[in-house]
Amino acid sequence: MLLLLFLVTAYYCHGLPVNSPIAQSVENHISGGVSGKPNLDEDKLNKLLSDQEISSNVDFLSNRPGGKLEFPMFLRKSVEDYEKDAAVVLQQSFQDAEVTPGLFQGDIAGFSPEAYRLWRVGLRWDVFPERKWDNATVPYYISDKYSPTEKQIIQTAVHTLGLLTCVKFVPYEGNKTTDYLLIWPVTRPAGCWSFIGRLGGQQVLSLQQPDKTGPKCLGGPGKPMHEIMHALGIFHEQSRADRDAFVKFNEENAIQAFVHNFDKQSLENTTYQYEYDYNSIMHYGTHFFSSSRDKPTLVPIQKRAKIGQRDGISRLDCYKINVLYNCFDTPQNKAKYEAFCDILGI
Ligand SMILES: [Zn+2]
Repeated sequence: MLLLLFLVTAYYCHGLPVNSPIAQSVENHISGGVSGKPNLDEDKLNKLLSDQEISSNVDFLSNRPGGKLEFPMFLRKSVEDYEKDAAVVLQQSFQDAEVTPGLFQGDIAGFSPEAYRLWRVGLRWDVFPERKWDNATVPYYISDKYSPTEKQIIQTAVHTLGLLTCVKFVPYEGNKTTDYLLIWPVTRPAGCWSFIGRLGGQQVLSLQQPDKTGPKCLGGPGKPMHEIMHALGIFHEQSRADRDAFVKFNEENAIQAFVHNFDKQSLENTTYQYEYDYNSIMHYGTHFFSSSRDKPTLVPIQKRAKIGQRDGISRLDCYKINVLYNCFDTPQNKAKYEAFCDILGI
């Protein structure tokens, strides 16, 4: 008994030694077990990021009821495809890892500007039912390329989102798991980026590791939470049709090749359940894609408003996820999750 007490006390005071059998078992539980480690399917990823695969998906989307979607591609070019200058400017400048991939809206892979017409709080599941995670359950695996500290940061992001909403994040369980999020530090394109909603099969979410130039995507759990929210089906806040009433977009200050990242959508096709949220973890900061440090691209119209925080999800971000995954399905659940959002949202 005394020994047990000592062990428990030692655990709480010092944490588990990294190499202890208990720590290993916890680690295996978290990451899916030694036997079931998935590898990055580079072929699939490259296909998804290439025009060919995109056009087949476009056909798929075009057949949806409610109108034909006419667009040549649903993914902006990846960073290698940009004129060299633009890519070099992004990679060598002060820009954040969140904007460097050069994907659609910086960090969103595999989705078209046109598809924006069809979202409300996030994706409309009646139009894109296959993009919703079944039973609000997201199996995930964190790459072993991440250090224990880096894994801990990602794990904190996952746990926080799981706590504040009814979305269940469960460890990947080998071949039994068909659709899952693979959190991996992809090198081409590097940066913090994600697809929107569930893609099916192995779905990569990239979080670049810290290096000598900075923390990249792992300075804290904020950026991982931002990217996971994309994977749940949520877009950037400043894409809303009503955003011009809240932020001024200075197009002349943006790097021209990336002006499309500031596209907004028509009110004809979008509705908003909540007020504009400057505080959203999904909002761009003042200098995203700007051509120099003294040239802000987005300026809040409300004088004291701050944008671009990546500390944690806002109260309304939390509400958005809960609405999207029908977590407010009973009065009890509504009261519970609203209370979590009100207390723990930023
Ligand atoms: Zn984003």
